[in-house]
Order: sequence, then structure tokens, then C-alpha cells
Amino acid sequence: MDSVQTAGYFGEFGGSFIPPELQEVMDYLTEQFEKYKNDPEFVQEFQYYLREYVGRENPLTYAQHLTEKLGGAKIYLKREDLNHTGSHKINNVLGQILLAKRMGAKRIIAETGAGQHGVATATVCAMFDMDCTIYMGAEDTRRQALNVFRMELLGAKVVAVDKGQGRLKDAVDEALGDLVQNYRNTFYLLGSAVGPHPFPTMVKHFQSVISEESKRQIMEKEGRLPTAVLACAGGGSNAIGSFAHYIDEPSVRLIGVEPDQAPTLSEGVPGILHGFKCLVLLDENGEPRKTYSIAAGLDYPGIGPEHSHLKTSGRAEYYTVTNEEVLNAFQVLSKTEGIIPALESAHAVAYALKLAPELSRDDILIVNLSGRGDKDVEQVFHMLQNQ
Ligand SMILES: *Cc1c(COP(=O)(O)O)cnc(C)c1O
Repeated sequence: MDSVQTAGYFGEFGGSFIPPELQEVMDYLTEQFEKYKNDPEFVQEFQYYLREYVGRENPLTYAQHLTEKLGGAKIYLKREDLNHTGSHKINNVLGQILLAKRMGAKRIIAETGAGQHGVATATVCAMFDMDCTIYMGAEDTRRQALNVFRMELLGAKVVAVDKGQGRLKDAVDEALGDLVQNYRNTFYLLGSAVGPHPFPTMVKHFQSVISEESKRQIMEKEGRLPTAVLACAGGGSNAIGSFAHYIDEPSVRLIGVEPDQAPTLSEGVPGILHGFKCLVLLDENGEPRKTYSIAAGLDYPGIGPEHSHLKTSGRAEYYTVTNEEVLNAFQVLSKTEGIIPALESAHAVAYALKLAPELSRDDILIVNLSGRGDKDVEQVFHMLQNQ
């Protein structure tokens, strides 16, 4: 293959499997992203807003009490939970909106399932005075009425999609239809390291700030690299961002953690989903399996193409944890460190609780705390009552 055909591939995964009219839009986006990503003014602007608006750099906190309680590896937490809007998602949203502005787009569209990506998008659109339309399945708008209100409060228009089952997939289809019609003035802002090229590469680029910081911070604090970096994996954006600067450091283990009810990397097979090739969970009829996770952000039957490659090539390891382990981790981190993690992030914490005692006191774990748990407190309250 020549360099054009290999662009956007990670081993056999990735690429772009979409209709010709969408391919034209993706080709243009790829060209513009390549043009600006290393442009000094663009980089400076991105860094300015990461600092002044998102609140970076965020700390790499030594979890002293958790470490002492477990009696093994030293645990550090990368604090994406302290970002404005409470998760890593804003890093990517900010990067893509700055690119959209350079491309002359006046209008941002995005899809959202539970609403987290929609809220992050509406937030940054408000700050940059960009017209913002969020597509959301009608069923999801009923279940997440407060997030719909949040987005509207931030000035976004929320379109409830009635077609199909009224879920995320139907919202994606509507958003893509909008993009094909309006691509001259509209930018589609994708929320995870998935989708056709260039999205997985672009989202990784903007999320790599996580490991750029953590690597510098761990060298300052410990003078050496960590034994392992752990992150939860839904579509895979916080995980790929926290792995990025360690992929070429073979001594560092890369560990992705997923729910046992959506075990894409543990049980998935190569297939095409939403316009790209990745490991995918299929049911007995060969259709994408219906997944369920107590953490809305991890409820996806596919995974980013680079994770699919990191898994099959053996560079990264992926494990599942149970709901019970996640609920336990949610409470343990809250009690030992005074930090309530997002249910998504609690998956990574849950695996760290198992791994740390098996390692020595000379080992170091970096756990990516992708988000804060305020949004999940009510849900956990009900789950614990019903136990
Ligand atoms: C959305 C979300 C995730 C999952 O998305 P990835 O693309 O896999 O990172 C994880 N944690 C939090 C807090 C989220 O909001």
C-alpha cells in the first residue's frame, strides 16, 4: 500500500467505509487537520484555552492513603476530573472547535447518547459564540432530561430523533445527514476516538495532552517512568490520550479496562461499524450486540481502531471488571482520597485495586481519572439501596 491508502490505518483497523459524498467531506477535513495541527499559532491558541478555560495542567495526585491501604504499587491519579465540565471530553471538543473556526465553519453539530459529549460541545460553543445543534435519540432525551436542559441553557439546539429506536445510533444517522447537506458551513464534532479517518487520529492528537503532562509530571516526582498506565475504555479517547506518549516506551504496560457487559476488546472480532474497521461485539446473527453498562460513557459495542490494533499486536492489555467491582471502587476512592470518580473512571480504579497489591512497592501505577462522579451520585444511591 502507498502512503495515501495507509493513512488512517492502525494495522488492519481504521480506514473509512462511507458513501462517496461523505468521503469528500472527510478528505477535506483530513487536509485541514494536517494543515493546522502543527501550525504554531494554532498550537498556541489550543494551549491558551487549555490553560485559561479548561484549567490545565491538572495535577498528577499521589493517592497516598489508597496506596498504603493496598500495600503494593504506588498509585498516582491523573486528574481529568478537575477540568472545566468535569472530564477529559473538553480537551477534544476545544481542539475540534478551534479547527472548525480555522475552516470557516459557523455551525457545530454533534451527536450525544447520555448527554456528556453534548454538554461539553454546547459549553465550548457558547464560549466561542458558535451555532450549536445536538442530535439526541428521543428515548435518550426523556431519560436525560436534565442534560437536555443543560445544553439548552448553554444556548444549543437539541434535536430529539424519533426515527429507529430513538437512541444514539439514530442520532448519528441524522447528524451525518445534516453534515452531507451542510458541510460547507458545518463542522461535525465527534466525541471519541472512533469513526472514519481522520477522527481517530484527530481525537488522539487533542487528547494526547493527558500523557504529555503525566509523563513530565511522573519524571519530576519519581524520576522514572510508571510500571503501568490504566484507563477505562468506551470509544477509547481518554485511554488513547493517556497511553499516547508511552506507546513507544516498551517498559510501560498499557492497560485498558472495560465493563464485563460490553467486553469489546476481550470478545470482539474484526468488523466494520459506523464507517471504520475495529473489534466489534456481534450477536448470533452477526449484528452489533446490544450492550449495557452502568456507566453511560462505556456503553458502545465497538472501540477505536488504534485500541483494536494495540490489542491484537499485544502492545496493550485489556481487562473487564464487574459492576460490583466498579461500585466498590467508586466508594473506596471516595472514602480513602476524598475523590468521587465518574462511574466510567471507577472501572480503571477497580482494576488498579486488583493489580496494585500484586506488584511491589517499587512499582508505579498511573490511573487516568477521566471524570468526576457528581453526575453519578444519584444513580449509585439507587443501586446501593437495591443491593
Ligand atoms: C465519555 C466518557 C468516557 C468514555 O469515553 P472514551 O472515549 O472511552 O474516553 C469515560 N469517562 C468519562 C468521564 C466520560 O465522560
